[in-house]
Amino acid sequence: MHEMSLAINIVDIACQTAKQNDAGRINSIEIEVGKLAGVLEDSLAFCFQAAQNNTLAENAKLNIISIPGKGHCKDCDKTFETDTFFTLCPHCQGFSVDILEGKDLKIKSINVD
Ligand SMILES: [Zn+2]
Repeated sequence: MHEMSLAINIVDIACQTAKQNDAGRINSIEIEVGKLAGVLEDSLAFCFQAAQNNTLAENAKLNIISIPGKGHCKDCDKTFETDTFFTLCPHCQGFSVDILEGKDLKIKSINVD
């Protein structure tokens, strides 16, 4: 499952960060998930609970921040929100749309003790 490998990755990165900072445990992990990243947040939260077992992140809370998708139209130079990759520009109905935001999953902060 896609979300399971993501969850394991997040826990790995958090644990490495904790070790680098000589931290005994991880309190919380904040991640940003783009609406266009193809990640099911509920599923990710569920997988995280499995992945965090027996790690420094065992009791860590996962905070998921949803980032809306953002597109930019090269024809009329306007920026707009979108929840799909395949979108027309809502201003000029043009096809020349670049997706600027919402494609990524990023770890924003890791809170350790
Ligand atoms: Zn446009």
